[in-house]
Amino acid sequence: NSVSGDSIRQRFLHFYASRGHKLLPSASLVPDDPTVLLTIAGMLQFKPIFLGKVPRQVPCAATAQRCIRTNDINNVGLTARHHTFFEMLGNFSFGDYFKKQAILWAWELSTSEFGLPPDRLWVSVYKDDDEAFQLWSNEVGVPVERIKRLGEEDNFWTSGVTGPCGPCSEIYYDFHPERGYVDADLNDDTRFIEFYNLVFMQYNKKDDGSLEPLKQKNIDTGLGLERLARILQQVPNNYETDLIFPIIEKASKLANVSYGFADDQTKRNLKIIGDHMRAIVFLISDGVVPSNVGRGYVVRRLIRRVVRTGRLLGIKGDGRGDLEGAFSPIIAEKVVELSTQIDADVKNKAPRIFEELKREELRFVHTLERGEKLLEEKLSDALSNAERNGTVPCLAGEDVFLLYDTYGYPMEITKEVAEERGVSIDMDGFDIEMEKQRRQSQAAHNTVRLAIENGGNVAENVRDTEFIGYDRLHCKAMIES
Ligand code: ATP
Ligand code: MG
Ligand code: MG
Ligand code: MG
Repeated sequence: NSVSGDSIRQRFLHFYASRGHKLLPSASLVPDDPTVLLTIAGMLQFKPIFLGKVPRQVPCAATAQRCIRTNDINNVGLTARHHTFFEMLGNFSFGDYFKKQAILWAWELSTSEFGLPPDRLWVSVYKDDDEAFQLWSNEVGVPVERIKRLGEEDNFWTSGVTGPCGPCSEIYYDFHPERGYVDADLNDDTRFIEFYNLVFMQYNKKDDGSLEPLKQKNIDTGLGLERLARILQQVPNNYETDLIFPIIEKASKLANVSYGFADDQTKRNLKIIGDHMRAIVFLISDGVVPSNVGRGYVVRRLIRRVVRTGRLLGIKGDGRGDLEGAFSPIIAEKVVELSTQIDADVKNKAPRIFEELKREELRFVHTLERGEKLLEEKLSDALSNAERNGTVPCLAGEDVFLLYDTYGYPMEITKEVAEERGVSIDMDGFDIEMEKQRRQSQAAHNTVRLAIENGGNVAENVRDTEFIGYDRLHCKAMIES
């Protein structure tokens, strides 16, 4: 298939290889960089070169980088374009070519190599980047109606709070040109999709927020593989491309539902499983083990969400004695099967990945069952107390907190089940317990700070506070036990 996900990756790499780029392998999802928890973009492995700390080995390079973005977790299955795990195709210049060449090649790749109709493409530039505007308009010939000037939020790219950064310019595909130019909003997911970001990396953002010009002008780009696959395969969203859909089909089969006939909520649940299973497999493959801190916590939350979502869909791991009732390894097998081009190594690591998954799933199911039992007891207590005292049945904040914190029982299940039984929840009491807990862990937090000041690693020691997941935001710092 000329537009399979695998072939798109290959054609991108070949395009830049034949224009002098050295092809390099994807870096691990665990970055060699204490300022970020996980690899969020292709540029990360080149940061020291961009900053001039390490001499470049080659003038320019291209990669297909596996990425994790936990900040997009709540978009999964809601937008058509966001994943927690995705591949970023990238071409990079280390003080070699700059703006003009990057723009011309990106256009040639999009239109000649991949055949996207030029009149379907829009571009954005940073609000005061007149040079980029002129290049798109005069050199490429994009009509000015389809060149948008956007602000910092969209068109000034930084890799983190500090580090290499610069204005960027992006290419968007228009699914509905008939809607015209008036009020066209590039962030409107029902009409446009951003697929290629060209960053003109020329500054280093310092601790105090100031921008220091870099010695060399660099190019850093990112093209979302799943997004380009979605456009070229003409499917309604990234999830229905050949990169992810087989995983969804596997989950549908286990759930005994047909994706095509499923309602929106079921489809969303299937997409969550399709998305998270990829993230989980590649995280474990890159050495992340489920735990309560840092990256380990990310993978634990993802696995728990898959298990809960699977149970909602009625998926059971029956029929595979070796799995003792776990189902996630069965779906992971499909991810591994699809992965030979993403990372050849995953196949060798597969048995360990399945083992880790099975153990974590069974542990969580045990947690759920323990929590269910305790919740049942607390609910009947609440009901009989209310009857005795002639009051409204209510679950005490302490109990809600006990379930949440000590039992690790998901908050919204507590809410759901209590509601079903006609019992309200004392959220104020819960907040008080939460605050107590917060104050206690402040002491622990200070210990972590000390560890960091003494050369420890932030990402290793502190929970990813940005990772909100599916229940209450809970950002206490914990020390690895
Ligand atoms: P968006 O505005 O759609 O959230 P972004 O501007 O945050 O995307 P960039 O940081 O510019 O994304 O990353 C470069 C490219 O990587 C994007 O143009 C897109 O093709 C891809 N990409 C970014 N985030 C995701 C994601 N969560 N899932 C899939 N692809 C992504
Ligand atoms: Mg984004
Ligand atoms: Mg964007
Ligand atoms: Mg972008």
